[in-house]
Amino acid sequence: MEKSLTLAELKSPVQYVKGIGPSRAKTLAKAGVQTCLDLLYYFPRTYQDRTKFSLIPFLKDGEIATVKGRVISVQETRPKPGLHLLKVIISDGRGRAEGVWFNQPFLKKQFSSGKEVIFSGRVSRRFGPIQFSNPDWEILDEDKDPLHTGRIVPVYPLTGNLTQRAFRRKMKDIIDSYAPMVPEFLPPSFLAKFGLMPLNLALSQIHFPESLKQLQEAKRRFIYEELLLLQLGFALRWKERKARGGISFKTEGSLTQKFLSSLPFPLTEGQSQALEDIRKDMRSTRPMNRLLQGEVGSGKTVLACYAMLVAVQNGYQAAFMAPTEILAGQHFLVLQEFLRDFPLKVALITSGTQKNQKEEIREALKEGKIDIAVGTHALIQEEVSFRKLGLVVIDEQHRFGVMQRKILKEKGENPDMLVLTATPIPRSLALTIYGDFDISTIKGLPSGRQPITTYLVNTSREKDVYDFLKKEIIKGRQAYIVCPRIGEEGKEDESLAAQAALKLRDYLQKEVFPDFQLGLLHGRMPTSEKEEVMRLFKQNEIQILVSTSVIEVGIDVPNASVMVIWNADRFGLAQLHQLRGRVGRGPYKSYCILLADPKNEDALKRLDVMVRTNDGFLISAEDLKIRGPGEFFGLEQHGTPELKVADLFLPETQKFLEDCREQAFLFSNEGKGLFKKFPLLKEMMEARFPFSSGLGEVG
Ligand code: ADP
Ligand code: MG
Repeated sequence: MEKSLTLAELKSPVQYVKGIGPSRAKTLAKAGVQTCLDLLYYFPRTYQDRTKFSLIPFLKDGEIATVKGRVISVQETRPKPGLHLLKVIISDGRGRAEGVWFNQPFLKKQFSSGKEVIFSGRVSRRFGPIQFSNPDWEILDEDKDPLHTGRIVPVYPLTGNLTQRAFRRKMKDIIDSYAPMVPEFLPPSFLAKFGLMPLNLALSQIHFPESLKQLQEAKRRFIYEELLLLQLGFALRWKERKARGGISFKTEGSLTQKFLSSLPFPLTEGQSQALEDIRKDMRSTRPMNRLLQGEVGSGKTVLACYAMLVAVQNGYQAAFMAPTEILAGQHFLVLQEFLRDFPLKVALITSGTQKNQKEEIREALKEGKIDIAVGTHALIQEEVSFRKLGLVVIDEQHRFGVMQRKILKEKGENPDMLVLTATPIPRSLALTIYGDFDISTIKGLPSGRQPITTYLVNTSREKDVYDFLKKEIIKGRQAYIVCPRIGEEGKEDESLAAQAALKLRDYLQKEVFPDFQLGLLHGRMPTSEKEEVMRLFKQNEIQILVSTSVIEVGIDVPNASVMVIWNADRFGLAQLHQLRGRVGRGPYKSYCILLADPKNEDALKRLDVMVRTNDGFLISAEDLKIRGPGEFFGLEQHGTPELKVADLFLPETQKFLEDCREQAFLFSNEGKGLFKKFPLLKEMMEARFPFSSGLGEVG
């Protein structure tokens, strides 16, 4: 038996690992490697299979290949001032190839005639000789050690001023001496159940695989490890939440009964299922923590309204938080309409609410005279308090941080929480990002909706688009025209955008649509003015609403049938999909017109996805592919770190995730006993996913 490393040793700074000094430690720190453990988990970026060498004459242009040969000649030239060219020509007995390096004169001394070397890299054979430009290389004779050849060779992401070969040598020594001493921390039952490689072996195989099969098995172990640790954090958080006593609401009552029977439409099947989930949660003595996801227009707000009525009919208050003033205002209007004949009071509180009115609302909230508060971040301000907050509904949650949710919830005593999101995401991702939520998904849209037809149109055909709008308006419909965002997403310059929108509105009103009424909406308008414009548009006193992208979410005017988006190439996919979701909300055939002359590949890809599909799941998946999860979700703000080993885009990851989630929830049932049995498991979970620190204390 080898000696096991202690936790303290594993956590010691990387500079004390032999062979890694302070300067190397600095380089490694840039890659996030702080401790000895981090270094052992500093996995290769990729591998080169050097078990097979290609024969030079058979190399194809553009392929990545590895060849072995003897140095025939070394040439140095300076074709231009400031340019040094080193050419090393080798022969494998069948053919010749040359390695070419630019401005690396110091490499020359490495190669001398007759030495046996390896080149590995992309082949170019377009112009005369077969070339490897700036290839990975190894000298074989010197290195009797077969570390660099005849095997699968690791390629590390960052090696500082070390070459791959020198860094590889170092890692080999480190792995050889440390890997056998790293104690296993995953429960044996888990390893056995999924046939996972033990940690020592997996570490040595992921760095220096003996075969592709071993490499694959090592990777699988680390994927399971990563997903289990992640899900264990979620499971523990879920459990701790549930362990707190929640409110057991009665879901039957006069308000909810009246509400359901007054709806002018039957609920869709997806809505009914989600409604059942919400009911069950609200009746339970444990706090609800549910994510309700569904396509734009799938009818989430109706369910939120139902849930709030449950709270109210049990003598509690409900809070409904939305990310923007416009959206909060819209929800407020909708609720007022739904609840017009109900004996309860709904109030809107945003940063635009006037001061004295705000104070009045706060007072009324505190005294319990307001039943439902709708608002923006203004709701989580310190001065806002509730008499008896029983339910928190949060819309578009990916725009809120974990902290903001928490602050609102803490204004009550373990209130139920319902989070709405119109960014449907694949289940594997949902489990990664909302792993501590229960999830309901509304599939499908209310019937009678017509699919929205989307066109990509060159801006030079602007006039045709306006002619089309005229026809629709004459039929009685309404339209939106959205101006381009100015500035990057998240850093919009709303005041410049507002100016542009104003100009466009004035121009269109005068020159193009003199017979119709055009309205203007942008983020810089006073709240009362915004409300007025939205009211007029709703009543069809305005036929065309010109706006900045502030209408992205929330506006609900079923009579609107055309959405025109100027310079659509400047918007992200999620935003485009949200914008498009403003039409097609009623029985009318609707259109989305993307006016754009896309200039780059990504923009074209996005617009193409929009034209191809209306399916929000598909669009999210494409968006994720184009942007990657970090950017897509702003994961850091979420408190959810990115996965390092598991790849959410691989179909098999779904199964791994489900396996690990199930096991994690089983393990979490063991309560404190789990970490008594496996103390290192807790340490590793906390080290890998800091959000799970301090969890697992509840028995
Ligand atoms: P979401 O919040 O998911 O975007 P909403 O709740 O705003 O969707 O619903 C969109 C529109 O569809 C609203 O006008 C709403 O009244 C209507 N609606 C909701 N549920 C149904 C249904 N089952 N049948 C018909 N219309 C519905
Ligand atoms: Mg409950």
